[in-house]
Amino acid sequence: MTEWGLERIERIFIDSRVRDSELAKRVCEIFDTTKIEWVLSEPLAELQGDLSVRDFEASKQMLFITEFKGAFFKRCPGARPGLTCCNYFVLNLGSQCNMNCSYCYLQSFINSPVMKLYANIDRALDELKQIGRDLHDLPLRVGTGETTDSLSLDPVTLFSRRLIEFFKDYPKWRLEFKTKSSQVDQFVNVDHVGNVIVSFSVNPNAVIEHEEHGTASLRARLDAAQKCRAKKFEVAFHIDPMIWHPEWRESYRELVRDICERFNPEDVNVISVGALRFQPQQRHMMRERFAAQSWVTGAELFTSRDGKLRYDETLRQEMLKFVVDEFRQDSHDWRVFLCMETPEVWLETMQGMPKSLGNLEQMFDHGVTRKVTAECR
Ligand code: SF4
Repeated sequence: MTEWGLERIERIFIDSRVRDSELAKRVCEIFDTTKIEWVLSEPLAELQGDLSVRDFEASKQMLFITEFKGAFFKRCPGARPGLTCCNYFVLNLGSQCNMNCSYCYLQSFINSPVMKLYANIDRALDELKQIGRDLHDLPLRVGTGETTDSLSLDPVTLFSRRLIEFFKDYPKWRLEFKTKSSQVDQFVNVDHVGNVIVSFSVNPNAVIEHEEHGTASLRARLDAAQKCRAKKFEVAFHIDPMIWHPEWRESYRELVRDICERFNPEDVNVISVGALRFQPQQRHMMRERFAAQSWVTGAELFTSRDGKLRYDETLRQEMLKFVVDEFRQDSHDWRVFLCMETPEVWLETMQGMPKSLGNLEQMFDHGVTRKVTAECR
């Protein structure tokens, strides 16, 4: 399977109000004019709401360049009572994704029939500036990969370049891109001050082939990570979501080996590990879209404390511990943590909670979270 490119975008709507934005101009340069339509309001508005399977599929091939009117900067949705979380904040510069993972949480979230990219990034940066007035010196982590992939459409938006430039003035903050693509060439030559983390969600090739349609191969993602590392960007990996399949041990052992062969622990900022989880309301859509060829749709799953469907706790612990132990066999210096897990699973898998695991203390300093949350209200 190859990574899906821009040729899959079939229709592009541009909101006439943003016609002078850098993004609109770039889109007009890159795409064939026959694909572009100028609009004065939300296109296909009659389809808004609960999308049918067909409309959801179609939304991945239709782009709407517009402005975002709400708050760009938000707390990570994982920050909830009952879950152990890591002081993460999100900046949403678009919604929907041009790739197509069977478990994608956007299936329970997207209610627009078009993929959106926001042209008013200047206002997003103003919001960050506002926050920076009081919190310039706090170790804030800001990610852009919540409602869309951070980099798969970045060759069009070039948002990465604007953000890296902006974060040069905030050396204590960390900017985190999160991707399943290999699209890094557009920013690797931009000067930075060492506070940009390019994080790659990775899975064994077998899982990529089965479940992560249109994403980059594992090899392409690791190649991209090495390019970033060569330019002194921090690199992180998310082995998330781990997906059970008959050969899961062999697959994940090989994945850990690939990472350990190409990188040293000091090259990698963190490695987060998480097991499959998703909202029950997206199961119907997942079954309709992927049932025959998916390891996810037929899995036996249980509702956990946060309402999401997950493997039972024993299997989760076994899978997560397997990966953690594989890294530890290589070196105890790998900074591995669990993403969106309960304290019980943390204790069983890691033999400790994050604040007692020396190298992760700052990430889990909830004092930072409280200060920023108060600032964002
Ligand atoms: S890459 Fe991420 S956002 Fe895109 S479809 Fe896959 S899970 Fe969803």
